[in-house]
Amino acid sequence: MKPFAYFKASDEAAGVEAGTHPAARFIAGGTGLVDLMRLGVEAPAEVVDVNALPWGQIESTAEGLRIGALVRNTELAYHPAVTSGYPVLSQAILSGASPQVRNMATVGGNLVQRTRCSYFRDVGVAQCNKRSPGSGCAAREGFSRMHAILGGSDQCIAVHPSDMCVALAALDAVVFTRGSRGPRTIPLGDFHTLPAAHPEVENVLERGELVTHVFLPASALARRSTYVKSRDRASFAFALASAAVALELDGKVIRQARVALGGVGTRPWRSREAEQALVGQPMSRPLFERAGTAAVAGARPVRDNAFKVKLAARVIVRALERAGEMA
Ligand code: SF4
Repeated sequence: MKPFAYFKASDEAAGVEAGTHPAARFIAGGTGLVDLMRLGVEAPAEVVDVNALPWGQIESTAEGLRIGALVRNTELAYHPAVTSGYPVLSQAILSGASPQVRNMATVGGNLVQRTRCSYFRDVGVAQCNKRSPGSGCAAREGFSRMHAILGGSDQCIAVHPSDMCVALAALDAVVFTRGSRGPRTIPLGDFHTLPAAHPEVENVLERGELVTHVFLPASALARRSTYVKSRDRASFAFALASAAVALELDGKVIRQARVALGGVGTRPWRSREAEQALVGQPMSRPLFERAGTAAVAGARPVRDNAFKVKLAARVIVRALERAGEMA
């Protein structure tokens, strides 16, 4: 690891100011950045510690849930307002990483975590447009079993690794930030960017801009929500395909639906196609299968990951069945 300067931000303005330096990186839980610094993927000249900022609270109101950016993943997953009102979020967080990692990882860090593409994390591989723009993409001709079938480009097919963000996509989350131009509000669906020609850009945050908190609106949808994750191991494994779904029912008829996919998209993947297939229809296995098929209609698999097309459709079916059975 290369030597770096350390700065502990005592207030928001100091954090934003320090973070605007081109070679600075923010650190909170450190579960992403420290890994990448050890690997040599990241080599910041300055690390800006934001742990002293006042963003460690979860506030539950009739309107929804306000989650500070420094809330640890474990605290969020086990908070009573989350387990009862937003079960998909609790399940998604607990399906990811390990207890030790979840104890340290923060909500803000989870939102900006970087891909687990093995070529991106191996500095011995020269071709990676995300790490070295313009160098090529080793995954396109290499081992691509874990890569994306939705949202990829010729420049990059890396999967977004977060489980939490898939749940946030299904829950219509809104991200609040503070940057050098002041505060702003970003719907979760607009927060992460597609790789297109610039895979090195992964979200819409400007240099020095910090996530301060996330808001989840209260809804009947959120209460009837669930997360299903398919993976190679029962724990500490990233998704091959996962689904976050939320339903509002009128008897057996689906009044509203939210469907988001993980493990298959270059960003947390909200499927409006699946949602449209479900709304206004009585619940049934054939309906859920049509929704799953609709969600992957635009899939573009590469050599090793065609299996994800069926797998993603099936995790949607499983998740919809579970949500439909909830009391
Ligand atoms: Fe790099 Fe993206 Fe290609 Fe992986 S998929 S090697 S992150 S450019």
